[in-house]
Amino acid sequence: MGLFKPAWMGKNEARAMRALDKVCDDETLFQIATECPHASVQLRAASKIQNRLVRLDVASTSRYVPLKVRKAALEGATERELCDVAKCGPHPNVGDIRLEAVRMMSDEALLAEVAATVHDDGGQDASVRAAALGKVGDRELLVGLMDQYRDIYLGKVKRGPYEGGGDPVIKEAVVNAYERVERPPFEWSMLVQSEKASRNIMHDLDDMAFPEDRDRILAILSTAAFGKPLKQKAASLLPDDDPALDERCCPHCGTVGSVRSRSSCSDYWGDSIGWYECSVCDQDDPGGTKRKDEDFSITLRELRDM
Ligand SMILES: [Zn+2]
Repeated sequence: MGLFKPAWMGKNEARAMRALDKVCDDETLFQIATECPHASVQLRAASKIQNRLVRLDVASTSRYVPLKVRKAALEGATERELCDVAKCGPHPNVGDIRLEAVRMMSDEALLAEVAATVHDDGGQDASVRAAALGKVGDRELLVGLMDQYRDIYLGKVKRGPYEGGGDPVIKEAVVNAYERVERPPFEWSMLVQSEKASRNIMHDLDDMAFPEDRDRILAILSTAAFGKPLKQKAASLLPDDDPALDERCCPHCGTVGSVRSRSSCSDYWGDSIGWYECSVCDQDDPGGTKRKDEDFSITLRELRDM
């Protein structure tokens, strides 16, 4: 079989290197860069390729090629070319070079394009998108991307078997993006559970008024994530006779409908023990004035006036 093998395929590295020196057509150079058993020879072959498209093929080939060879092939690539490599189809062998391409990019519009390109695999692709999203700073681009990620963020999109692993990566990237956006949209403040989101909602409340913003006010009141001061402020915007103020909530965290009765049969005699507790903040009766098995929830009206 050795009879038909070119010298650059041989075990002898020095001979392979000498064979490479005689090659100057891109087609053979591509072959050497992607098939030669010696990384040093592959590296030199990749650098010798003249045609940029052939170089990009080396960078993004699904064959097993060492990362340093792929990186050498990316040298001198334009932002658009880097973007195309970052977007190339998911394959276990190209994950690292796609991330490397993102690392080398600086054009935010193209980074946004990478972040928006969704392939049908999961984890690896999500990491590339998340890395690209992490480098976008422009508010308009970020807000547009966050809206595109909405269903993934909310777990409504389940694609491949790996998507379960990809979701947390995207979720974290979107929360980070949210933290970087100046004046994020109200809808995202409602979705993202962070300190900044609470501050933003508090700020948004300053501009809200009854009755035009009633839906938004109710949305804040019905979201478990935000604490008591926010709920009190939102409740104070509703008129005294608004039926929403009759809703029962937790006196600690202000969450509507979270105080529930629990019971267990752990008693020695098998009797069931019942008690009330908030399913959001886990607290029970605030003042100790009520029995454990008494509902300690209060109305939003009472919460407002606390
Ligand atoms: Zn609570």
